[in-house]
Amino acid sequence: MVREFDLIGRYFSREVPEGYIGAGDDCAVLPEQPGRQWVVSTDALIEGRHFLSDVDPFALGHKSLAVNLSDLAAMGATPAGCVLALALPKIDENWLSKFSDGFYFMADQHSCPLVGGDTTGTGHGIMICVTVFGHITPGTALLRSGAQYGDDIWITGSLGAAHIALKLLQGALPANDVLLADTRAALERPRPPVMYAAQLAGLAHAALDISDGFLQDLGHILKASKCGAHIIFDNLPVDPAIRNLPNELMQEAVLSGGDVYQLCFTAPQRHRNAIETLARQFSTMVSRVGVITEGNELVVETLSGRRLMPSQLGYQHF
Ligand code: ADP
Ligand code: MG
Repeated sequence: MVREFDLIGRYFSREVPEGYIGAGDDCAVLPEQPGRQWVVSTDALIEGRHFLSDVDPFALGHKSLAVNLSDLAAMGATPAGCVLALALPKIDENWLSKFSDGFYFMADQHSCPLVGGDTTGTGHGIMICVTVFGHITPGTALLRSGAQYGDDIWITGSLGAAHIALKLLQGALPANDVLLADTRAALERPRPPVMYAAQLAGLAHAALDISDGFLQDLGHILKASKCGAHIIFDNLPVDPAIRNLPNELMQEAVLSGGDVYQLCFTAPQRHRNAIETLARQFSTMVSRVGVITEGNELVVETLSGRRLMPSQLGYQHF
């Protein structure tokens, strides 16, 4: 049976880049970022609530960091490092080894080294708490309160697949192996547009990451910015895997489905070209889905002028 120290040494103490002091001391040390402001976020994932007990541990490691990187992306920040607090009901080395591989895969890909953490036992399920540190040019954080009348509303990536995968895994939809195979990665391995988002400072006015559902999260921007929005449903980036589902189910997944970990941001019209050019440069998909309006109403309409009723889609504005 491995002891806690061996476990940390074996799975969570990989080498850190020059300028960092990682696991092994009482605190980690991060390199100076001259002329930058720090940006910090933390997210806890609880077994049974945020992930299913039998989820692939590599994917879980990946997702634990991805959901935090998504918060940094939402602020337009560049990742600098992360710490990981783990509460484990038992020591399962096969699980730990795969979890660690998934976590480091994401950390390496986004230059966000794991520099420390805490490891403890628990009488309950697994808890994974990640804290990320990033940095921005002072004064350029993309806040929820920055949207302005006339701004375009943009979304990165696509919507709806994670919601359908979750429903399939929960048995809330009839079993469908092909559909599950096509949607599962969206749920279990989100890919927030971290590099792209770090370039949006100076272009975007407001941003957040879509975690609870597009309409609900857009509602946070509208409330903080004291404005409304007009969304064209046909312009929303429906994930190709769910395009052929019954209309009502597809709409619910797109407008209210969670676990997206893509960005919704607003930007003035004059930046349309820059936003699209940057998206090509960073191989990120972006869609312009609507405009910010005066008042506080959120309207979702089809191109043919049919209004969708957000209230019927499980959405409460204000
Ligand atoms: P302390 O008693 O000071 O809290 P610990 O014994 O908890 O120290 O941790 C020893 C070292 O291992 C610390 O540097 C800590 O940051 C690191 N560490 C502990 N758990 C993890 C983890 N899950 N991931 C990364 N580093 C960890
Ligand atoms: Mg400790």
